[in-house]
Amino acid sequence: MATPTTTTTATLPASPAPEPAAADRAPYAVTLIPGDGIGPEVVDAAVQILEATGLVFEWDRQDAGAEVVSRYGTALPDHVVTSILKNRIALKGPVATPVGGGFTSVNVTLRKRLGLYANVRPARNLPGIKTPFENVDVVVVRENSEDLYAGIEHVVVPGVVESLKIITEVASTRIARHAFDYAVANGRKKITAVHKANIMKLSDGLFLDCCRKVSREYPDITYDEMIVDNCCMQLVTKPQQFDVMVMENLYGDIVSDLVSGLVGGLGVTGSANIGPDATVFEAVHGSAPDIAGKGVANPTAVLMSGILMLRQLGETEAAARVENAVLATFRARKHVTRDLGGTATTAEYVAAVIGAMEA
Ligand code: NAD
Repeated sequence: MATPTTTTTATLPASPAPEPAAADRAPYAVTLIPGDGIGPEVVDAAVQILEATGLVFEWDRQDAGAEVVSRYGTALPDHVVTSILKNRIALKGPVATPVGGGFTSVNVTLRKRLGLYANVRPARNLPGIKTPFENVDVVVVRENSEDLYAGIEHVVVPGVVESLKIITEVASTRIARHAFDYAVANGRKKITAVHKANIMKLSDGLFLDCCRKVSREYPDITYDEMIVDNCCMQLVTKPQQFDVMVMENLYGDIVSDLVSGLVGGLGVTGSANIGPDATVFEAVHGSAPDIAGKGVANPTAVLMSGILMLRQLGETEAAARVENAVLATFRARKHVTRDLGGTATTAEYVAAVIGAMEA
């Protein structure tokens, strides 16, 4: 946060006003959506750690997901959307989505209703977590609003279904610009546009065209392109060649999970869904019904999303403190949850991270 300064007519510069202590600053109002399954466990764990920074949050707790359908007739009641629009920022746990029928995905609906056009998912190797590759540090920027996720599908005749892939110049240019601006703001050097324009010459061709046009405005960032199938192979053989990657919605959904897998899985990857009116920070994993209620879920993904949130709030020092504590906890390997080969419960992991912050 910028420190306000005053100027005087005297020759000596005025002393900067002291930054108020974290606890004395106005609280940050954040919509908190615990979600389904392990959601409430991992979100509560992340909240404990975020509050241990000394920052004050006004959590506006809102329920969404399978649990609320019987109460409101929808998995995403209007008041949840209103709360996010009011606070402009939300921290969200996973929400279960029925397969093949039932209610529409809360995640997709949220993205549409709030215009969250960009999904940004950074993935970096963590100390103490054994993975097939070292020095992976990739950010996937995924277009979040169109492509096959426009949800336009219909039965042509029984036995034949048509799903429309929508790609527009406006959305493709917007996501390309977002990726380049992200690269500039975060000291990144290269952007790879991922596509299948050899087959979908019109739709993916338009996407590539937009990326190329935007790339010319950023001469300091190297720009290249890769066909999505080759890209997957390259990611699992030489992932270090990638820096920032930009792609359409469906490729982004798949590739961002693949990239998370390279650094330890969905349990350790955070993400931000960004739009002009709000940002929703969310864990990328699902509701993990197989371990819900057992107290063993790994809250790192929600916490990583919380760290991204702190950075957006300008709380870079607090963000670094939490991140370093997570890294120290992984490095020590004493309090790591089961999904990462340890034996710690969620509560033991939280205590270890808070302990590392205070050390
Ligand atoms: P999942 O991510 O819930 O689980 C896959 C595997 O990973 C399971 O073995 C689970 O135990 C494990 N896992 C996931 N998160 C973990 C964590 N934090 N700590 C430890 N282990 C963890 O995927 P799924 O089983 O395909 O989906 C279950 C439900 O979640 C579905 O209804 C799906 O629609 C929903 N889902 C929601 C989101 C979201 O809200 N963003 C994302 C993906 C899936």
